[in-house]
Amino acid sequence: MENNKKFAELAAKGLLQSEELYRYVLETSVNPREPEPLKELRDITAGHPMAGMGTAPDAGQLMTMLLKLVDAKKTIEVGVFTGYSLLLTALTIPEDGKIIAIDLNRDSYEIGLPVIKRAGVEHKIDFREAEALPVLDQLLKDNENEGSFDYAFVDADKVNYWNYHEMLMKLLKVGGVVVYDNTLWGGSVAMPEEQTPEILKSGRRATLEFNKLLAGDARVQISHVPLGDGITVCRRIY
Ligand code: SAH
Ligand code: CA
Repeated sequence: MENNKKFAELAAKGLLQSEELYRYVLETSVNPREPEPLKELRDITAGHPMAGMGTAPDAGQLMTMLLKLVDAKKTIEVGVFTGYSLLLTALTIPEDGKIIAIDLNRDSYEIGLPVIKRAGVEHKIDFREAEALPVLDQLLKDNENEGSFDYAFVDADKVNYWNYHEMLMKLLKVGGVVVYDNTLWGGSVAMPEEQTPEILKSGRRATLEFNKLLAGDARVQISHVPLGDGITVCRRIY
């Protein structure tokens, strides 16, 4: 619990822009436009000891934009927690859109579920309580799924990001988009190893490795955006 609070503080310090500038963006452009159900979900989550894990609303706003731009209908989410990014996806895709949402832990999903139900978008969600890798592997066994997804959001265990990426490169259609969260890992990617707080070290190593691999991956166009804790947007080229 304490660790998580510390992490949130470090993440805030790691922002590339100043705290004042970040607050300005939130107050001017993000908060006034945040849909009511998302605000409510954020409020409910605020009481959770791991609240810092929820998607930052400014990153969420960009994700909503991307979902609309690719006209996303068939989507995947890896790492649901209480459902902020899941609800924003469900609110954005059309009535007949689908989200395969994977998380190890159903209990946290259930915290946000009443808000999702009241928003009338639960029918778009296929929640799977499981390790994400085997679920993605299973999806790939069905030929119909190959190259069929418009959009994916990955926000789970950082050590597996590259494994998720390899599978998503098969599941996404050409032109499809995958967004990876926390790719600045509390700003630690730019800290020397010896100055990195212990709590960030293992995630820092995984993130550095992942960012390097992604930068060298010709299959995708990328944009590494310093919103929230850093997100990387990838568009499958071939
Ligand atoms: N996107 C969420 C935050 C996700 S936090 C939001 O907007 O609020 C990370 C989540 O990843 C946690 O709920 C954790 O249970 C899940 N997770 C971690 N490792 C996982 C794995 N191997 N497979 C599936 N889910 C995993
Ligand atoms: Ca996250």
